[in-house]
Amino acid sequence: MGGEGCEHICMDVCPNIKIGDKTIKIKDNGKTNINPVSCGCCEICVRTCPYSAIKIVGKKVKL
Ligand code: SF4
Ligand code: SF4
Repeated sequence: MGGEGCEHICMDVCPNIKIGDKTIKIKDNGKTNINPVSCGCCEICVRTCPYSAIKIVGKKVKL
């Protein structure tokens, strides 16, 4: 996922990041990586990303 010129807006809006989880991390190359295990699939970051760089490829299974 991008990160070039967007200041990692996805990390500002992710509810998991707000409560201290590490769902989104910045990699060494400056791009972001979303942890599919802790991601809640709320899609806020999908709607916020200015480059449409995020896609949800599979919803979580209800336990
Ligand atoms: S996924 Fe989108 S909002 Fe997040 S760092 Fe990349 S370009 Fe920016
Ligand atoms: S879809 Fe996942 S990574 Fe994106 S804002 Fe929601 S919890 Fe965070």
